[in-house]
Amino acid sequence: MSLTVMKFGGTSVASVERLQKVADKVIKKKEAGHQVIVVVSAMGKTTDALVSMASEISSRPSKREMDVLLSTGEQVTIALLSMVLVERGYDAVSFTGWQAGIKTEAVHENARIASIDTSLIRPQLKKGSIVIVAGFQGVTEDSEITTLGRGGSDTSAVAIAAAFGARRCEIYTDVTGVFTTDPRYVNKARKLQEISYDEMLELAYLGAGVLHPRAVEYAKNSHLELVVCSSFSDEEGTVIKEEVSMEKTKSVRGLAFEKNVTKVTLLGLPNSVEAVSRVFDAIAAKHINIDVIVQNVLDEARTSLSFTVDHDVLNETLDVLREQEKELEYHQMIFESELAKVSIVGSGMASNPGVAAQMFHALSARDIKVKMISTSEIKVSTIIDESKLIEALDTLHETFHLAEEESVSL
Ligand code: ASP
Ligand code: MG
Repeated sequence: MSLTVMKFGGTSVASVERLQKVADKVIKKKEAGHQVIVVVSAMGKTTDALVSMASEISSRPSKREMDVLLSTGEQVTIALLSMVLVERGYDAVSFTGWQAGIKTEAVHENARIASIDTSLIRPQLKKGSIVIVAGFQGVTEDSEITTLGRGGSDTSAVAIAAAFGARRCEIYTDVTGVFTTDPRYVNKARKLQEISYDEMLELAYLGAGVLHPRAVEYAKNSHLELVVCSSFSDEEGTVIKEEVSMEKTKSVRGLAFEKNVTKVTLLGLPNSVEAVSRVFDAIAAKHINIDVIVQNVLDEARTSLSFTVDHDVLNETLDVLREQEKELEYHQMIFESELAKVSIVGSGMASNPGVAAQMFHALSARDIKVKMISTSEIKVSTIIDESKLIEALDTLHETFHLAEEESVSL
């Protein structure tokens, strides 16, 4: 009998009423003859509410206790969903992360799954029960509760699917699939039928919130087909897999973006690798993530170094750099806020020259200034003024024919 893993996110389980809808989908799958494992998130904004309670107590709450606290969210959902299914005449049983044998490394708040002991759940599946597992959580060798990082229930679902040898993992969410870009920003955004793991990974890392990046990584490594689809309709979703046959005519599959970007520039830094690494060491010591980096060599002695950080950590970043002005030996520090990062992503780019040029032409035709650039094999990211974000997305969506159906050939 084939096993399917179905994962339902926070919005999909936000109320008892919605849990009834989830139960409809689960029952349908069960009646079609599948063994079913359901992985769920915390209800609605529960995790945010728990985080905010903790922050009323401390600006730096203990990470161990944060994990104990946040893991309660998912535990509520598994019990309630199980009750709904039992009430409707089905055998269902809930498991927390530790009960399900989900072992993680010993890191709080952002642990990776190390192994899953499938022997704990298998007897229930054999018996025909619907198994419901709490996403986002696990346990260390030392029986400490851990969580997998915000959005981590996707990763739980994929890891469970892989461990149980399922061929498919279905992620049910509040959108109908993966779109060429966020439809709230570009109304011509189109749902993709398929996308490759690598493209999805780039999009997820670049800020498309639809999937936890690590879930995609897991799916890729275990060759598991991932499907993103709606909890609220029966519309077909997006399939994420290795080879994507379509679109010989297209080199860009989608656009990702991030707002709230700030660019910090250090002028007159000594022109040496040591000087640059001292800057990044100082920032890393504060656990601040930097993103796009550009260095301009001014002359033999001096360079200027720019990098972007999230606006939320700007003050912290400026503080560290000011405190260490002497040691870091720069002349002046400036910054620019209200920027956005816009990226084009597509595996076709690797073999199609000129895609970046097309991007820059499109932006400059709209008088959108590109302030920084970063690239990989299958993406080009640009930093622009946030006020131009929607215009940039529109023009790039147009330029790369993203609204057109996949079967179109040029
Ligand atoms: N409940 C957790 C969060 O809100 C995990 C998840 O939903 O994936 O981040
Ligand atoms: Mg999510």
